[in-house]
Amino acid sequence: MPRIAPATASIGPAILAAASSAVHRAGLRVARRAAIVPVLAALALAACQSAPVTGRSQLLIVPEETAIASSKTAYLQMLSPLEKQGKLDNDPAVTKRIVTITERLVPHAINYRPETADWQWSVKVIDDPKTVNAWCMAGGRMAFYTGLIVALKPTDDEIAQVMGHEIAHALAKHQAEKMSQTMAKQVGLNVVGVLAGPKFSGLAMQAANSAAQVALTLPNSREAESEADRIGIELAARAGYDPRSAVTLWQKMAKVSGGSGKSDFLSTHPAPEKRQEALAALVPQMLPYFEDRSPRPVFRLKPVTFATARAE
Ligand SMILES: [Zn+2]
Repeated sequence: MPRIAPATASIGPAILAAASSAVHRAGLRVARRAAIVPVLAALALAACQSAPVTGRSQLLIVPEETAIASSKTAYLQMLSPLEKQGKLDNDPAVTKRIVTITERLVPHAINYRPETADWQWSVKVIDDPKTVNAWCMAGGRMAFYTGLIVALKPTDDEIAQVMGHEIAHALAKHQAEKMSQTMAKQVGLNVVGVLAGPKFSGLAMQAANSAAQVALTLPNSREAESEADRIGIELAARAGYDPRSAVTLWQKMAKVSGGSGKSDFLSTHPAPEKRQEALAALVPQMLPYFEDRSPRPVFRLKPVTFATARAE
């Protein structure tokens, strides 16, 4: 099974400090309820895990299963109105292009984390020429906004870098990590309900659902971004997409960020200039995967209709 070398930067401490201070604040709020404090402390300790693939320490007080369950709700809330407005998969050629690229990336995601073979891997193209964005939720549901094509005129290799990067966020549980931070900060006591295990209180589950949406709009930490860059470029190279396109993609992104176009992608993926250098340094390591002549596997994505998405 392919392995990615651990990220080198001292990634853990910053996230841990931010998240543990958030837990600490939540802890202070419940300090009067003495019985809960040891539970919180014990669960916060138990929540320190190693990120899949890179081994970075991450704090997950929201388990990945919760992130996946609440992502499904968030997905329906976000995409059902767009479906009603006729804004999904409007151009068959664009949809085919995005689906084909994504279907080549997913087998390598599953190689890294075999249990993700059970995820609901799918992608929807959102007809929104003004929005430069793409995402992959926990659980494998993806979206790609046509504004990315309008603004960047990307090659297939560059689109593969975008989708590889987004898939990497999901593989590395970054949504659960952001939800953990959001919930610890905003929800306080309800966190205890989520910490308590699979039987969530209705209120805690509601909080998780809104945190799932909030998490999509929050900027990723620098550490999470370099982790997703590192994993994404390798997913794309193994799928047969040129790693040098990761650099040109971010050059294009940097140009867009200087213009007046609305880029949700850049608001959640900051500092395009800085990452070009780090990605360029990874290219020589990635070229052998790209140049490998073995056949490239394909994972057939599930076509999503909103009736089936609700019934799952
Ligand atoms: Zn990112």
